[in-house]
Amino acid sequence: MQILTKRQYNDGNKTTRPNIMGTFKHPTKSKYFKIKELVSLELYNLLHEDLLWKLIDSELIETIDKLKEVFNKGSITINSYAWSGDRTQSGVRTKNSKYYRESSQHSIGKAIDCVFSAYTTEEVRDYILDNPEEFPLIGGVEVADWLHIDVRPRIDGKIIIFYP
Ligand SMILES: [Zn+2]
Repeated sequence: MQILTKRQYNDGNKTTRPNIMGTFKHPTKSKYFKIKELVSLELYNLLHEDLLWKLIDSELIETIDKLKEVFNKGSITINSYAWSGDRTQSGVRTKNSKYYRESSQHSIGKAIDCVFSAYTTEEVRDYILDNPEEFPLIGGVEVADWLHIDVRPRIDGKIIIFYP
């Protein structure tokens, strides 16, 4: 290991020298969903939007945008509190949520729950399970009244199906 003096570090190591003003990478954002649809109101009130987007796995963002493009009729509702709806815990969950589970994909920004206005949950879930190559990043699907999808790794290339 080479130890550099401060001057060597500053002069000769420009490629790796951290630039404190330039290291903020722009987060991946959804084309179709607002951040309020993906985090709770408490979280929304706590942090800058750019930081909130960093809590959402980019694979999940890619997947929900794909979902919107494939199921393009009507609306997809994740969290709905932004327009006074009752869904508040359908994206990232924090420890103060009564639905919080340490092992949940919701706790690590890798899962959403949603409902569709123009499709039944079963229709969408069956389509995903029948066409897993169209949603290559979905690793988990829950069988429930709502659609739960998450981007955990698949097992042996297969989507994990589970029950609440
Ligand atoms: Zn869920």
